[in-house]
Amino acid sequence: MREHFDVVIVGGGPAGLAAGLYAARMDLRTVLVDRGPLGGQLLNTELIEDYPGIDSILGHDLAVKMGDHARKFGLDIREFEPVTEVDVDGDERVVRLESGNELRAPAVIMAAGGLPRKLGVPGELDFAGRGVSYCAVCDGAFFKNEVLAVIGGGDAALEEGEFLTRYASKVHIIHRRGEFRAQPILQDRARANPKVDFIMDAQVREIVGNGKTTAVKYESHGEPMELPVGGVFIFIGFIPNSDVLKVHADHDAEGYLTTDREMRTSVPGIWAVGDVRAQLTKQIATAVGDGTTAAVSASAYVSSLKDKARASA
Ligand code: NAP
Repeated sequence: MREHFDVVIVGGGPAGLAAGLYAARMDLRTVLVDRGPLGGQLLNTELIEDYPGIDSILGHDLAVKMGDHARKFGLDIREFEPVTEVDVDGDERVVRLESGNELRAPAVIMAAGGLPRKLGVPGELDFAGRGVSYCAVCDGAFFKNEVLAVIGGGDAALEEGEFLTRYASKVHIIHRRGEFRAQPILQDRARANPKVDFIMDAQVREIVGNGKTTAVKYESHGEPMELPVGGVFIFIGFIPNSDVLKVHADHDAEGYLTTDREMRTSVPGIWAVGDVRAQLTKQIATAVGDGTTAAVSASAYVSSLKDKARASA
């Protein structure tokens, strides 16, 4: 089945939902599809306390609020609709769905976010779901009173590492360098938590176990070390979901889509917002800003196409 819209949004995190709210409120026929439930990275975050105006809210609750808010303005939201391809067919941008259906529009906003980066060490994939996890909010409660390793040195590792101390008896944060890139406030909180311990200048080599994870092997200053743990949480960044684009769009070395100030990619009629876009940081506030800009730009684009069509009719 083919359906036609003014705007199709791929991805239902804060960037996509903000784009959807604005586009629908500007009276564009807008549909948003997400392969899972609404929320994107909000669903992997316990507590949000850096979204201006809201001093503290659960990630899940903010996702529900953003979805309800966008629906109020008429956004057509379709959850559990995986997208297989985003393509160009003449003047139309085509979003192909796993269901076999197609959504077509002159404007597509890519808000597809990304997936956790893998460490690429032996044992990681074997023990995924059996002690190896990429989401503290989803899996933390399975590790009551266990000793855990958290791998990474960015905001996610420090924030999620601290979060895991609710359940774990000890959390060892293992980082490959001597200093963290995480925000100082997150570092300070982790340091103040007696259940958190830091293993610096340590390169993880293997995750081992027998049916489930039992230890992590790492190398520190040339010395092989082994740390017994019940689980390993990996937070080493993100791989952008830009490869659903079947047409070439400019991107950086890591696959993040590059845009101009209106969030336009190098492909006319395709915008990129949020975590799939090359930018300094991945914050809810910046994602929402991206989505807003893209919706306003896409609205002007769709209007100019409609004006042209009317003039030539
Ligand atoms: P990130 O900032 O890219 O940090 C990734 C960390 O993993 C870095 O410390 C990096 O080490 C390490 N790493 C990367 N590849 C590795 C490998 N192969 N082996 C071992 N370590 C590796 O990623 P993130 O922490 O997931 O954060 C992503 C974005 O989300 C950031 O923009 C962040 O600000 C944002 N975020 C914000 C919050 C918040 O504001 N509360 C919370 C979570 C995430 P090096 O330092 O040596 O490169």
